[in-house]
Amino acid sequence: MEIVDIIKPDIDFIEKLSKDSGAPLKQCMQCGTCSVVCKLSPEDNPFPRKEMIWAGWGLKEKLLGDPDIWLCHQCGDCTTYCPRGVKPGDVFSSLRFMSYLHYSKPKFLAAFLSKIQNLPFIILIPTIIILGIIYFVTGLEIPPGEIIYSKFFPHKQLNISFSILVLLTIFGMMFSIRNFLKDLKKNMPPKKIKNTVLKSFFEAFKEILSHRKFNKCDNNNYRYSAHLMVFYGFITLLFVTFFAIISVIFFQYPLTFFNPIKIAGNLAAVSLLIGLSTMIFKRLTNIELSGNSTYFDWIFLISLYLLVITGVLVEIARFDSWKFAYHIYFVHLVLVWVVIVYLPYTKFGHMIYRFTALTYCKFIGRE
Ligand code: SF4
Ligand code: SF4
Repeated sequence: MEIVDIIKPDIDFIEKLSKDSGAPLKQCMQCGTCSVVCKLSPEDNPFPRKEMIWAGWGLKEKLLGDPDIWLCHQCGDCTTYCPRGVKPGDVFSSLRFMSYLHYSKPKFLAAFLSKIQNLPFIILIPTIIILGIIYFVTGLEIPPGEIIYSKFFPHKQLNISFSILVLLTIFGMMFSIRNFLKDLKKNMPPKKIKNTVLKSFFEAFKEILSHRKFNKCDNNNYRYSAHLMVFYGFITLLFVTFFAIISVIFFQYPLTFFNPIKIAGNLAAVSLLIGLSTMIFKRLTNIELSGNSTYFDWIFLISLYLLVITGVLVEIARFDSWKFAYHIYFVHLVLVWVVIVYLPYTKFGHMIYRFTALTYCKFIGRE
C-alpha cells in the first residue's frame, strides 16, 4: 500500500491553508521549538508541532476536528520563535476559521458570509428585511415630536422579529456543535474520563470568565486586557438588552439616564470601545506580533465597533433630539443583525466553538 493511500493528503487544503495563513508550511523542520515555547500546550502530546506536520501533509479532517487548535489563544509566541518563519500561530488562526466554515449549518450561509465580495449583499439583506418590516408596521414614516424609537419600530414587532432570527441562529448552531463534538471525540478519543460533563462545563466556564490562559502570553500581553474588556463589555450589553426586552413588557421603557441598567450599558459600551480600539490599533501598528489579519478578523472588529458607536449615538440622539435620530437607529438595527444573527458564521462564533472544545478537553482531562 502506498503511503499516500494511508495519509490521503488534501492538496487543495494545503494550498488554501498556506494562502490564508501566509505560512510556508513546507518549511517546517519539526524542530519542536513551537511546542516548547507554547505556555498553553499540554506535556502529553503537545501542540502545535504535530499540527504543523499534519498541515504539511494536508490532513484536513484531522486538523479541523482537532480540539488543540481551540486551546491556542493566538499569543504568537510560537510564531516569534519559529526558526523557519512558518508562523504556527497564524496557521492555527486560519484553521479555526476553516473549522467554522466546515461545521457551520447551513453551510451555504457560512460560505456566503466568508467572502469579501459578498459584503454588499451581507449588509443589503438585513437592510431590506428590516425596512420591509418597518414599512409593513408603520409605513416608514419619521414620527414627529419627541424622539421615541418605538414610534418608528414598535417594540412588539422588533422583539418578535429579532427573537425569531436569534432562535433560528441558535437552532443552526446546535447542529453545528453536534457535528463538531462528534469529530472532537473521533480525533481525540478519551483515554480516561476525568470529570463529569457538568463539572467540565463549569471548569471551562470558569476558565473563560477569568481569561487565565490569556494572561500567560509573553509577546502579546496587551491582548489579555483588551480581550477581557471586549468580553465583559459584550456580555453586559447582552444582559442589558435582555433586561430592556423585559422592561418593555413589564416595566417602564425607555429607561432614564440614571437607571442602574442604563449606567451598566454605558459602562459596557466604554469597555468595548477601549478594548476594540486597542485591538484595532495593535493590528494596524504591530503586524508582526498581531499575526496575519484576515477579512474574517476585520469584519468582526469593525462591525462590533460600529455597533457600539451607533448604540451610543442612538442614546445621545434621543436625549438631544437629533434630526437624524431614527436614521441612526435604523443603521444600528442593521448592525445588530450583522453581529448577532450572523454570529455563528463570523469570528464571533469562536466563543461557542472554543467553549465546546474546552469543555471536551476538561472532560477527558487534557490540560
Ligand atoms: S513550526 Fe517552526 S518551530 Fe514548529 S516545528 Fe516547525 S519549524 Fe519548528
Ligand atoms: S499562538 Fe501562542 S498559544 Fe497558540 S500555539 Fe502558538 S504559542 Fe501556543
